[in-house]
Amino acid sequence: MLKLSQPNISEAAIAAVADVLRSGQLVHGQECEAFERELATYLGCSDVILVSSGTAALHVALQALDIGLGDAVIVPDFTFPATANVVALTGARPVIVDVVPGTYTLDTVQLEQVIQSWDGVERLRAVLPVHEFGCIADMREINRIAKSYGLAVVEDAACALGARQDQRKAGTLSDVGCFSFHPRKTLTTGEGGALATNDAALAARMRRLRNHGMERTISGMQFFEPATNYRMTNFQAALGRAQLPLLDEWICQRTILASIYKELLSPLEKAGVLALPRLVTGHSWQTFMVVLDASINRDEVIGELRARGVETNLGAQSLSCIGIYGEPQVRSVFGPALYKYGLALPLFERMTMDDVSLVAEAVSQVLLGESA
Ligand SMILES: *Cc1c(COP(=O)(O)O)cnc(C)c1O
Repeated sequence: MLKLSQPNISEAAIAAVADVLRSGQLVHGQECEAFERELATYLGCSDVILVSSGTAALHVALQALDIGLGDAVIVPDFTFPATANVVALTGARPVIVDVVPGTYTLDTVQLEQVIQSWDGVERLRAVLPVHEFGCIADMREINRIAKSYGLAVVEDAACALGARQDQRKAGTLSDVGCFSFHPRKTLTTGEGGALATNDAALAARMRRLRNHGMERTISGMQFFEPATNYRMTNFQAALGRAQLPLLDEWICQRTILASIYKELLSPLEKAGVLALPRLVTGHSWQTFMVVLDASINRDEVIGELRARGVETNLGAQSLSCIGIYGEPQVRSVFGPALYKYGLALPLFERMTMDDVSLVAEAVSQVLLGESA
């Protein structure tokens, strides 16, 4: 079976983890400190704060901006539910805005309309764009809109470590960027995540929020605010450090494979059975998702591809379809469609061009009803 994705853990990475386990320094330590420095250098930002997951990163970012009860935060309809869950967990209201086809990221026209016509009892505080599958949302436009309405911007860059826009990296284009190192992402520490910022005060607050609200002062440990434990372990950091120098090469390989997919599948797009993602410059290609025509039963396609040895899956969820975040301001069109008809194809850097051909062939056979 050709898997949807596969973590890329070298023997050197395993050895680095084993070294930490033998050292006895399992939680905070040199590996965490070094990984934070190396990530900050890689991203080109002043501070990186490691945490225990991408969800933890999002939660800490919102807490650090003092977002809570009585506030509202704008989130895109098409994402993993963690994006909206963290907003709700702070006590704030997630406000769902639709996404656009092709990039699957926040619709900035609807974003501005929703802000302009906002009449909720909550105070709009922030925009939380998602760089879906490694495609950076239109950050120039989002930052312009946020600035003119006095809103903070937090990037959900969970899928987008290493993606670029205007020569800058995903997660450094706003107040705070949030990353995930879950095994489904390109660089993995098992569970894990990170925050990136250029704001020293925010960085200090986020360090405290990931560690029981505690800071070491000259008079010893002091607890400044209620917070939880969102720390990453030292051996997870060692695992991440071993992969970071390889990341750009992996993204480069994924970009090549994505463009081959696009080429091989374009006859199907012309035939009207699916739509392909846009090949956006700087995309990090965590996932390659096509959108099937609405006349096609996606779950049947997943089953038929599995029978041909190809693992596929839905791409992401539609928050408005989940229905636990309250009534939307504007009814979404594309978020629900991407959720219902999106099909994520295998993509990871160790796939070969032959693997991509095999998948494209299987997809053609299934969609055009040809026998294998
Ligand atoms: C993976 C993901 C998350 C959650 O990250 P975890 O590390 O699994 O907590 C949040 N948002 C998006 C867009 C993701 O893809």
